[in-house]
Amino acid sequence: MDIQKLVKPNIRSLRAYHAEEIPCKVKLDANESPYSAISNQRSAISLEKNLQTLNRYPDPQATALRKLMAKELKVKPGNILHGNGSDELIYYMITTFGGSVMYPVPTFSMYGIISQALDEKKIEIPLDKDFDIDTEKTITAIKKYRPKLIFLSSPNNPTGNCFSSERILRIIKATSFSKQHKGDSRIAPTSSLVVVDEAYQSFSNEKSFLPLLDKYRNLIVLRTLSKIGLAGLRLGFLIANEEIINEVNKVRLPFNVNSLSQAVAVEALKNKKQMRSYLTSIISERKRLFREMEKIDGITPYPSDANFILFRAADAVRVYKRLLAKGVLIRDLTGVIENCLRVTVGTPGENTVFLRTLKQLI
Ligand SMILES: *Cc1c(COP(=O)(O)O)cnc(C)c1O
Repeated sequence: MDIQKLVKPNIRSLRAYHAEEIPCKVKLDANESPYSAISNQRSAISLEKNLQTLNRYPDPQATALRKLMAKELKVKPGNILHGNGSDELIYYMITTFGGSVMYPVPTFSMYGIISQALDEKKIEIPLDKDFDIDTEKTITAIKKYRPKLIFLSSPNNPTGNCFSSERILRIIKATSFSKQHKGDSRIAPTSSLVVVDEAYQSFSNEKSFLPLLDKYRNLIVLRTLSKIGLAGLRLGFLIANEEIINEVNKVRLPFNVNSLSQAVAVEALKNKKQMRSYLTSIISERKRLFREMEKIDGITPYPSDANFILFRAADAVRVYKRLLAKGVLIRDLTGVIENCLRVTVGTPGENTVFLRTLKQLI
């Protein structure tokens, strides 16, 4: 029998996401933190307690975790939905609202991959020459395609910059539900939900969009613990008004976040001092990396608000391969942006190895 014939056409043409494990000495390819954001002692205590109750299902509401996160983000627990990574929450949103799904490109690949997996139409709008949102093109496309969801990763992965807040705001306003009159349940024809994906917010000086949630009912903010030292836990958060949370919560699998992840995250969030000092170090190392890369002939780094730096290099594939041959793994983005590579900020030692190796081979 031909299995291929049984597979839905949209899945048949999809390729599995390959996050391949390439052996290397210095791993700077996946925008992870070089530091685990929890001390051994704290995690040991909370893990041991939770190992005794692994026969039980986890708390489906992640009550303690959502309460802590709500305090941290200055929202109510009812405004937070927990996901097995924010990837899962992207999946849930597209499942709940459907398409079209619009996003600027280049950006985080999961918006497109999940849209295709769920057989929803994708509308991709190229960023302008400064990697910012092309507002005119976006607004025109919104009117034409009336997307249900618009994903804006700011800071953007893989370009590293924040989009201009005014441009994001223009899109939120252009798609916000019109004021409803009493007895009039119609929705404006240009209604869309705008998801501001703040996966890298902790590394940025730009303001979060969280304080605008009260003002714009079509705004959704995404956060994750993955880039700040807990990628292995798989924990993401969707923050929005309660009506949106309640709808998306219908498609959430009941036990999507396991009990060990919940417990360890609670411990980590109780002690943010360590996490903050790691963030400070990563931001100052990003500045050093950028300064040093600017000095290398043949390399053009782009300014970054995130924990990685995009850079252009003549013959980038060769640079990527020769770095890897020396044990330094970064991300080859030449298929996405011509001659571009992306390096994650590591420990000071790792960054020095990267810089030294790069200088040697250019
Ligand atoms: C890494 C990343 C995510 C995924 O985060 P998880 O919580 O690990 O699933 C989401 N959005 C952007 C822009 C990212 O770069």
